[in-house]
Amino acid sequence: MKHFETELPEGYREVFTVDAADQKTGIKLNLMGLPVLAVTVAAAWLILRPRESGAHTPAVSSVLLFIGGLLAYLVLHELTHGAAYKLLTRRKLTFGIAPTVAYCGVPDIYVYRRAALISLLAPFCVFTVVFGVLTAILQAPWDKFLAAVALGIHIGSCSGDLYDTFLYLFRFRDPRTLMRDTGPKQTFYVPKSR
Ligand SMILES: [Zn+2]
Repeated sequence: MKHFETELPEGYREVFTVDAADQKTGIKLNLMGLPVLAVTVAAAWLILRPRESGAHTPAVSSVLLFIGGLLAYLVLHELTHGAAYKLLTRRKLTFGIAPTVAYCGVPDIYVYRRAALISLLAPFCVFTVVFGVLTAILQAPWDKFLAAVALGIHIGSCSGDLYDTFLYLFRFRDPRTLMRDTGPKQTFYVPKSR
């Protein structure tokens, strides 16, 4: 199955763009992640009750690991997008950070729906499992709590990826749909109906 085109085929038209580097869109996408984070933290606090574990605060080493882990996550999230794009297309990738978004794209090609969905959802799937397993297996209640907070931050930070996925599920269901992903900006193209 073909995963991409190097040039936009004839008869396609641009129908939609999502630009996370655009301040308004970027802030909106980040705000969409906040309720997810709030609900996760509240649920973890109520279920795990870390303050009743005997320790009033988490260990300093746990907090440092938490911060270091989140920074590593930021990079690994983008590398996971990159690995999926690379495996499916073997084309040149681009990575970067803008004020409202960290990104990975494959700017020189037009990607078909299936390959785009795989790359969009790869970090969401991988790190939901990673942070979910950590939350389950860590023993100290504060460590469990911090892992759950990381899970919430992760899901919240996938808002742009999940928004694009939402568009594919409800708006661009045609498998011929092409997307150009420059990193912060995704442009969708569909064949003109005749
Ligand atoms: Zn992402």
